Amino acid sequence: MSLANTPDPEARKAVVRQDLGNVLHPIVQHKVLEQQQIVVTSAQNSTIVDADGTAYLDAMAGLWCVNIGYGRTELAAVAAEQMQQLAYYPHTAMNVPAAALAEKINGLLGGDNHIYFVNSGSEANEAGFKIARQYMKQEHPGEFRYKTITRYFSYHGTTLGTLAAGGMGERKTKFEPLSGDFIHVAQPYCYRCPFGLTYPSCALACVKNMETTILGEGPETVAEIIVEPIMSGVGVAVPPDEYLPEVEKLCRKYGLLLHVDEVINGFGRTGKMFGHQHWGISPDIISIAKGISSAYLPIAATVVKNHVFQSFYGDASDNRQVAQVNTYGGHPAAAAVALRNIEIMQEERLAERAAEMGAYLMDGLRGLMHHPWIGDVRGKGLLVGVELVLDRQTKEPVTSAHIQSVVDFCRNNGVIVGRSGGGRRYSNTITLCPPLVITRGEIDRIVEVLGQAVASLGRQLA
Ligand code: PLP
Repeated sequence: MSLANTPDPEARKAVVRQDLGNVLHPIVQHKVLEQQQIVVTSAQNSTIVDADGTAYLDAMAGLWCVNIGYGRTELAAVAAEQMQQLAYYPHTAMNVPAAALAEKINGLLGGDNHIYFVNSGSEANEAGFKIARQYMKQEHPGEFRYKTITRYFSYHGTTLGTLAAGGMGERKTKFEPLSGDFIHVAQPYCYRCPFGLTYPSCALACVKNMETTILGEGPETVAEIIVEPIMSGVGVAVPPDEYLPEVEKLCRKYGLLLHVDEVINGFGRTGKMFGHQHWGISPDIISIAKGISSAYLPIAATVVKNHVFQSFYGDASDNRQVAQVNTYGGHPAAAAVALRNIEIMQEERLAERAAEMGAYLMDGLRGLMHHPWIGDVRGKGLLVGVELVLDRQTKEPVTSAHIQSVVDFCRNNGVIVGRSGGGRRYSNTITLCPPLVITRGEIDRIVEVLGQAVASLGRQLA
């Protein structure tokens, strides 16, 4: 059964029956899917189309990932050509597209790295944790450095290890107890400073809290610090400018590896090729996914600086190699697609475009601030959060039902927006992360519909 682009109600019904009877969808309640019954059949640029012909402007680029936009048939041709030439061979040998992709990514990151290919952002982070631990065992044999310092409200993935690293309570509780090797510290979320302070008079209390924690744990037990440069999931929290350089200094002071999660921030999203490049830091480990292939095929990677790579370099009998394997890492078709995806980003200057369009989007959104329920508009490039509150003075968050009503209003009016997943406390931010090819006219539409949605929420609250 396949659906052509022209609406066919019978074919659509058949897909809905087949799906609801057989597919286990995560993250959404099946009853919601039963009500909405959206069957996505095609997409072009920033627009997805349902089986009944309804078009939606996808202001979330799927799941924060279709950076170059939908419908690039050129990438399908690249995949087909590669699969005819060589569909698959494992990491135990080299293949042409994976080598070329690694060289391309290394070049974007200064040329002093090696790249380990995996299949998802979770796997990239998990591999990073393991590489940090193995590195510490090999480089500091007398010590036992295994802990990861991480932040509350962060999200680093869905496996047990990455969930433990994450700091969103609600996503974790159903699986707890989780590993205790991930030590959480306060997040740099200035709109709701965990210390009740205000930047810059706060003197970066969040970094001081991180240092106190490292000292409390004992630096000789800590392997790394993981940070997402701009924390996406909590509602796009942009740190103060000194934050990441200060975190890097802590790593250098205590001999820890700096592990940066670029799964969402990477590949042009924030207006530079990588989020951390806004702050001039030099991470030891970088996790990349999503925009690496704009989700045309699944591929991700853990990038390690060459000083880390050297620890894994040895003779066949040394047993120093990265101690893990995965079947699909460096998949030739996925690598070929990712390489062409990155070339397109460069040819079309999509990172620069994200900076320009992001500024335009933020201007439009700030123009909505006459609505008293908009507490904050923040972001960088095309990674933007609009935090909704019941009262601007007290910053009391709107409820989960309120924010859902805004998301539903937008969808019912043809615009897909996201919401923060901060768990029990901070799920009150609308998130926007459109394809980097979004046009000014489409941005105007997002702003207009979101404005109507907030006005409608206001009527509910009145
Ligand atoms: N890290 C961050 C910051 C993410 O937002 C995500 C997913 O959204 C992940 C890691 C996990 O990536 P994946 O869903 O590809 O496993």
